[in-house]
Amino acid sequence: MNDRAERKMQFLFHLRSRGVTDRRVLEAMERIDRGPFVRGIFSGRAYDDTPLPIACGQTISQPSVVGLMTQALDVQPRHKVLELGTGSGYQAAILSQLARRVYTVDRFRRLVKEAEARFEDLGITNITAITADGSFGLPEQAPFDRIIVTAAAEDPPGPLLAQLKIGGIMVLPVGQSDAVQSLIRVSRGEAGYDYDELLPVRFVPLLEGLGQEE
Ligand code: SAH
Repeated sequence: MNDRAERKMQFLFHLRSRGVTDRRVLEAMERIDRGPFVRGIFSGRAYDDTPLPIACGQTISQPSVVGLMTQALDVQPRHKVLELGTGSGYQAAILSQLARRVYTVDRFRRLVKEAEARFEDLGITNITAITADGSFGLPEQAPFDRIIVTAAAEDPPGPLLAQLKIGGIMVLPVGQSDAVQSLIRVSRGEAGYDYDELLPVRFVPLLEGLGQEE
């Protein structure tokens, strides 16, 4: 086995050991190579289970956290999913393998453009990437079956709760940006919202307004 294949196998083995056991999630993470989503200087570390810096001072999340969040989201093939925080586009690319359509929003135009180019290179056609302040969600496409937020807010943003379908699930980190945050899952039922806490995480903050390009 060559070095790359070996590292990929270890990567998948590690994901399982961290609790990513859903077969469809593991298959999606096997298909979508993390390599093209990390910057050239970090390409040797694409299979490490660690967050890495991307453009605009942001980070691509740790693969095991991507796997656990995707698993908690329980995406089904007919679903319309909203992701807040496109970043590199890695999480959106994984969701694209599991859902009918993915809308992904970032406040940095540059990140959105670079992610779109990666989706095109990979032949992914069911992601719509949009430059916007996602704190207000995406009212023109709402409601969503699933919402995932990959930047931390102090509380779940009200507009996102409102844009979740009944029967829908939202997964997001909450807490102060400079402290350890909690990953939570919000399930919307007929009678209201249920919350459960999944694991401690650390994400960049959800900020208001569009990003100032470097
Ligand atoms: N999911 C990404 C990692 C996201 S890092 C990946 O797979 O690579 C968090 C991202 O959230 C950053 O790119 C940041 O610009 C974005 N972000 C922060 N606040 C935002 C907001 N209000 N609206 C949209 N995007 C936001």
